[in-house]
Amino acid sequence: MPELPEVELVKRELKTVENLTIEAVKVSDKVIEGHNAGKLTIVKEPVDIFIENTKNMDILSLGRRGKYLYFILQNDRHVQYLIGHLGMSGAFFHLNSLDEIVEYNFKVHWHVIFYLSDGSMLVYADIRRFGELRTIDKLGDFLPVVRMAPEYDSIEAKEYFLRAVKHSGNISKTIKAVLMDSTVVTGVGNIYAAESLYAAKILPTRKAGNISLKRLETLFQAIIDVFELSLAQGGSTISDYRSSTGGSGEMQNKFQVYQRKTCPEGHDITTKVIAGRNTFYCTKCQR
Ligand SMILES: [Zn+2]
Repeated sequence: MPELPEVELVKRELKTVENLTIEAVKVSDKVIEGHNAGKLTIVKEPVDIFIENTKNMDILSLGRRGKYLYFILQNDRHVQYLIGHLGMSGAFFHLNSLDEIVEYNFKVHWHVIFYLSDGSMLVYADIRRFGELRTIDKLGDFLPVVRMAPEYDSIEAKEYFLRAVKHSGNISKTIKAVLMDSTVVTGVGNIYAAESLYAAKILPTRKAGNISLKRLETLFQAIIDVFELSLAQGGSTISDYRSSTGGSGEMQNKFQVYQRKTCPEGHDITTKVIAGRNTFYCTKCQR
């Protein structure tokens, strides 16, 4: 699943759609079938409303909040947000034809195509269809964003994090589970939880309430460092993640514990399911 650095990189790559107009919108048969069966497959509102809200809109700019990517759209009457979540295996492509998508699975699993004013297309492809696209009038209308912690690089993020971890609802949970909660810190998923906990030498199994403030400060800095290293490496390329242009990042080569057999000190890595996900850690380096 793409985490914050991967979504940020998609946002940066898709800058090329800014200032173009969406002239037409096409939705796949799978999405239509899902909607007809009463499931809001990928498009989380009636398809005709989704198309009406995006067609003939200019793409002003792109933004990101946590793992959500959004496009600010505008026509001569109003502003509209198109907000997307890549789910487990979603990807955006900006290209001139579907044939330019290198990965066969993405090429056949396109679900929404926005035809743009310069003849190019913005394609949303999703192999497992856990992704989400919806239109909203403003970010403040969308609850997951309203509840989200500040962005990791904002001034108030650290204090917010320290307070949120020690919140009564979190103290008896494992620090791993708390890290993956977007109301505590944004954009940390399974991979970067493992990597930042290793960097901070904290066991993922430790109860959040039993970790000193000093160690939590170290952990918060570790999250920032891991995110920034990943951004510099072009993100992680793990099975389903592809960048918008189909390229691949190199962060997976920098992992200390995630999907590793040994840690950098040569100790055996322990794996255990925590918070529903396979967790990698070192019982000698982390305490
Ligand atoms: Zn170790």
